[in-house]
Amino acid sequence: MSVSKMQLDIVTPERKVYSDEVDMVITRAAEGDIGILPKHAPLVSPLKITAVRIKKDGDESVIAVSGGFLEVRPDKVTILAESAELPEEIDVERAKAAKERAESRLKSEDGDQKRAELALARAMNRLDIANRK
Ligand code: ATP
Repeated sequence: MSVSKMQLDIVTPERKVYSDEVDMVITRAAEGDIGILPKHAPLVSPLKITAVRIKKDGDESVIAVSGGFLEVRPDKVTILAESAELPEEIDVERAKAAKERAESRLKSEDGDQKRAELALARAMNRLDIANRK
């Protein structure tokens, strides 16, 4: 591995979504936004419903993740996500429908509000990332 890069793996229970050597990873951990460069101090943290921004050779790509865990080691970043999608994999109509379902559940004020809030956050995160394409 080159000196200035680190290995990034993003996996879900179903599949490996991303695996490559990268220059920088920017995402939102439980304690706040974090930018990770090679040789970062070891760290384990829960991950928010958020974007993972990846910088590699002057290009930036983005992946939608729906919570999970972030593990940082000096030469390797591993993200274990509940679900993760590349922008081109995101079904915008499905995310819009999920957003509307969650909003009407929140308005009706019955049922599981926390669950509806999380579904809304996943849908809005997917729509935001699909729009960055
Ligand atoms: P929905 O209500 O539409 O199922 P959800 O937020 O409940 O959305 P998840 O439980 O987060 O869905 O994900 C279930 C599976 O479906 C995962 O594999 C995830 O990657 C995929 N998925 C969910 N929504 C989308 C979408 N809009 N486009 C592409 N894949 C999606």
